[in-house]
Amino acid sequence: MTRSGDRTANTTDNCATFFLTNIVPQTQEQNEGPWLELENLSKELAQSGKELYIVAGPLGEGGTGLKGAMTRIKDKITVSESTWKIVVILDKPGLGVKGVTTKTRVIAVRMPNTLGIQSDSYKKYLTTVDELEKLTGYDFLSDVPVGVQAVIEAKKDS
Ligand code: MN
Ligand code: MN
Repeated sequence: MTRSGDRTANTTDNCATFFLTNIVPQTQEQNEGPWLELENLSKELAQSGKELYIVAGPLGEGGTGLKGAMTRIKDKITVSESTWKIVVILDKPGLGVKGVTTKTRVIAVRMPNTLGIQSDSYKKYLTTVDELEKLTGYDFLSDVPVGVQAVIEAKKDS
């Protein structure tokens, strides 16, 4: 979920990206297609001086890879139906939750865990935080004042 290439400051941080708690089964076409495009955009934003707050995870079960539709690998590991991510973009590092306003840009996506999507843009899979809250049961951005959440969670990035 957090890619190795985004945690290169020291060996400990980098090794942590290889824990299985950071890994979900994704089709290569998703991982190297729209998912990668959003990762690269996020990296560019961070390198241009923004600070990003990112949360991501799997949803449901029943992805379709080269071996066909699957709900589990070896009866143990869930193959999710889709993968979602929320990227909150703050103007500069260090602002923290106080830097989140109704004008803060938020990118929320949910991408199917399937084949045939490698050439798709992440933009095809834009959704809202509210929609992801409905689907996952989580309350994202819960430290942000509810009035601000109500605005930025209902908006789809464009
Ligand atoms: Mn909400
Ligand atoms: Mn929320």
